[in-house]
Amino acid sequence: MSTTNEKTVARDFIREWVAADLASGKHTEVVTRFPPEPNGYLHIGHAKSICLNFGIAAEFHGRCHLRFDDTNPAAEEVEYVDSIQADIRWLGWDWGEHKYYASDYFQKLYDYAVDLIRAGKAYVCELSVEEFKAYRGVPTRPGKESPFRNRSVDENLDLFERMKAGEFDEGGHVLRAKIDMTSPNLHLRDPAMYRVKKVKHHQTGDTWNIYPMYDFAHGLSDALEGITHSICTLEFEVHRPLYEWFLEQLDVPCVPRQIEFARLNLTYTVTSKRRLQQLVREGLVSGWDDPRMPTLAGLRRRGYTPAAIRAFCDKIGVTKYDGMTDVALLEHCVREDLNRTAPRRMAVLNPLKVVIENFPEGETEYFDAINNPEDASAGTRPIAFTREIYIEREDFMEEAPKRFHRLAPGREVRLRYACLLNCLRAVKNDAGEVVELRCTWDPESRGGTSPDGRKVKGTIHWVSAPHAATAEVRLYDRLFSVENPGADKNGDFKQHLNPDSLRVCTAQIEPALAEASPGDRYQFERVGYFCADTKDPGVFNRTVPLRDSWAKQQQAGG
Ligand code: ATP
Ligand code: MG
Repeated sequence: MSTTNEKTVARDFIREWVAADLASGKHTEVVTRFPPEPNGYLHIGHAKSICLNFGIAAEFHGRCHLRFDDTNPAAEEVEYVDSIQADIRWLGWDWGEHKYYASDYFQKLYDYAVDLIRAGKAYVCELSVEEFKAYRGVPTRPGKESPFRNRSVDENLDLFERMKAGEFDEGGHVLRAKIDMTSPNLHLRDPAMYRVKKVKHHQTGDTWNIYPMYDFAHGLSDALEGITHSICTLEFEVHRPLYEWFLEQLDVPCVPRQIEFARLNLTYTVTSKRRLQQLVREGLVSGWDDPRMPTLAGLRRRGYTPAAIRAFCDKIGVTKYDGMTDVALLEHCVREDLNRTAPRRMAVLNPLKVVIENFPEGETEYFDAINNPEDASAGTRPIAFTREIYIEREDFMEEAPKRFHRLAPGREVRLRYACLLNCLRAVKNDAGEVVELRCTWDPESRGGTSPDGRKVKGTIHWVSAPHAATAEVRLYDRLFSVENPGADKNGDFKQHLNPDSLRVCTAQIEPALAEASPGDRYQFERVGYFCADTKDPGVFNRTVPLRDSWAKQQQAGG
């Protein structure tokens, strides 16, 4: 039996295989890798892959490499290389010494390509892109062999060398593996290994005029690094025969095993870097770290914790079939974590002034407020109570139905931690809008207890007007208004953007909140979880509202 440590993670099929490979002695150490292409920021889908690769390495006392799959310099940038590292670290994982770039292996990969040419298993083809496609054909009919397929080894060596030297234009010359133009698997019909690309590379500069294709570079990079289990998403299942073909033909130091799992798809979310890139480029969000983005940078700014995201990844597990995960589960995970850890504060998002007529002017009373009912060690804080306070406009109704357990003329409510408050009347402006409430308090109810046992059902939050600070609060909601914004491949996913994904309000907050440092997370009592923005000082972002639709569903479902 193999050992897993720290925590018991449900044994999925990948962990079973890894355990079996250790048990049989096929491997003595597990080495995995996370191979992002630095062409965008990491998103929640990547988090699944990161937690899987780094998680397995940790559980089996192995290691996980970070490898930038940087074979397509035209789309890549150093900004992405940096953000990817910051995001993985923030999630709580560490690659130690093992940071690599596929570009570290460009020379070795080139030498491998030369080996294949020498063995008569690769050739330089001059078909145009259109011809290449036409010759490859469709799965149900065999493809056609390229007229360049049977060039001599020497001619191929010479042409490949000249491709490298920059003698040919882009699109004209391609090095192809010589496999089988009749294979039902299109990936085996003489796939491209190298193409000419006269682009400066962020790591290798102007050294190369040719760049390897993913399928050629990936498996060999795995082999060069001694990866034992190369875990990837299901769309690569059809590439596996090609992955294995290169490893079989060449003299490699290690033969990794490719294992596929289903990628994460989330409702109300797009998880395609190309589409996220589009949102950023077209200014539909404020950047990769817009708090509505499913990127790790966006989730972080929104107030998500690494622990919540890791818990989510544990809960969804891994399978072999594609599915759609309810975003409510992710929201549930962050609520669960913040419920345990976030200090409680009072903030009034849509303030209505209340004057307490029987409270002496200029005086202040202090009450103790509990910082976190889930964590006694968080203690209490004093909160000021005065003649003028703010409550939420929604907590008052002039003509309230019986079931409305908040304020209305002649009705009584409890002010959280403070007292019982009775509403006398509403003051209106010329337009007939309520601008102020006149109320009285019961001085016998200090702390909020009913002095004579009279029933007061509702409790509302409030802040003392002279003590409160003003803050901008950004109420974020889901970025898309339909469950599967990417469902229609031909339609424009952007037509499903939620027009109400951001509402801004000017809140009155208790003074303890005005001292928040960027990134601090709180529960605003009765309102939701919020996080002090890391870019704009004094701004709070709503992480999630309090209502947990996931937990509700689970209860309803039994
Ligand atoms: P995208 O489709 O968003 O462009 P990608 O797969 O091209 O993503 P990479 O940078 O190549 O992006 O991804 C790095 C790793 O993360 C790969 O192993 C990939 O399989 C994995 N990955 C990407 N998206 C998801 C997802 N939604 N769920 C799980 N794993 C994912
Ligand atoms: Mg990819």
